[in-house]
Amino acid sequence: MRKTLYIIGLSTLVFSCTSQQNAKKKQYIPRTPVVQPKTATKTTAEKPRSQITSEHGVEFFTTNIADPAKNDNTTSYGSIVSAKPAGYKVVKTYFPAIAQNFRQRYLILHYTALPDDKSITVLTQQAVSAHYLVNNTGDNEIYQLVDENKRAYHAGVSTWRADKNLNDTSIGIEIVNAGFTADAVGKRTFMAFDDAQVKKVAALVKDIAARYQIPATNILAHSDIAPTRKQDPGPLFPWKKLYDEYQIGMWYDEATKQSFYDLATSTDFQVKYNDPTFIFNVQTQLQKFGYGLDLSGKWDDSTKKTIEAFQYHFRPQNSDGIMDAETFSILQALILKYPTK
Ligand SMILES: [Zn+2]
Repeated sequence: MRKTLYIIGLSTLVFSCTSQQNAKKKQYIPRTPVVQPKTATKTTAEKPRSQITSEHGVEFFTTNIADPAKNDNTTSYGSIVSAKPAGYKVVKTYFPAIAQNFRQRYLILHYTALPDDKSITVLTQQAVSAHYLVNNTGDNEIYQLVDENKRAYHAGVSTWRADKNLNDTSIGIEIVNAGFTADAVGKRTFMAFDDAQVKKVAALVKDIAARYQIPATNILAHSDIAPTRKQDPGPLFPWKKLYDEYQIGMWYDEATKQSFYDLATSTDFQVKYNDPTFIFNVQTQLQKFGYGLDLSGKWDDSTKKTIEAFQYHFRPQNSDGIMDAETFSILQALILKYPTK
C-alpha cells in the first residue's frame, strides 16, 4: 500500500485576512505582497500590477499575497472536490474567500492494542477508523484509511478546552501497539514503541500539523480528550522525545516546573490533600489546561482517571492517578506556557 497524497497541487492561493475588507463597497486595494517563506529565497518589493486580475468588477490577486506567518486561516491547498452542475461551469481560480479556515484543527494519537493485520481489519471493516495507520513492520509505508477532508471514527465522546466531539475537527492517527496487560489487581503493564515506528509517527505528525497549522496544544493523546474511557497511546508513548527532537506537541519548561515544585513542597501540600478546596483547585487547573471534568471537590473516579491521563502524557514514570507535588507542578508549568486563548 502506498501512501496516497491526494492533495492535488500545492497551488497556494493565499489571501491576506484584512486585504479584502469592503471589497464590495469600494475599489479593491491590494496590500503589500509578502513572499511565501517556503519558496522565497529573497524578499521582493511590490508585485507588479500584472499579478492583479479583474473579474466581475472586483480585483483579485493571481498569486499568493499573504504572509502565512501572520495569517493562519487562509492557506489553501486547492479544493479537490467541486460541484459539477450539469450545463454550468464552477469557477474557483480567482474567488477564494479569505473568511475560511481548516476543519482539521486537532491531531489525535492512538494505539490500536492489536497487531498489524488485525489493526487493518478492524480499522477498515468495522465501525471504527482513523485517517492514518502507522504499522510496526519496519518498512517505510504509512497507510491512509480515510481522506483527510472526511471524518474518521476514532475519538468518540471527547472534549478539549472549548471543543467537543473531536471527530468533527481532528485527524486521527492509529499506531500499531499491543497496548497493555493488567495483573490480578488491575496494575497495567504497557508495551514499548519501536524507535522506527516513532520516527514514522513524528514525520507524519510534522507533515499534517504544518499543512493545517495545528498548534502544539491541539496535538493530543486519545486519553487526553477522553480520560475516563481511554488510556492510549499510554505512558510509553514518547511525547518528550517528540517535543525535544521534532518540536511536536507540548512539554513543560523544567525551571518553571522546579519553581512550582519548590513552592508546593515548602507549603502544606500533603496536609491539605483531602481538603475540598484543594481538590476543587486541582480540578480547576486540570480543566483550565484542557481536560473535560466536573468540579466536584472530591477525588472521584473521573478526577483520578483524568490525573492518570495527564500523567500518561506529561509524567509517565509514575502514572498512579494521584496528584502529587510533582504532577501538580508540571500541570501549573504547562498552564503558564500554554494558556487558553
Ligand atoms: Zn484511541
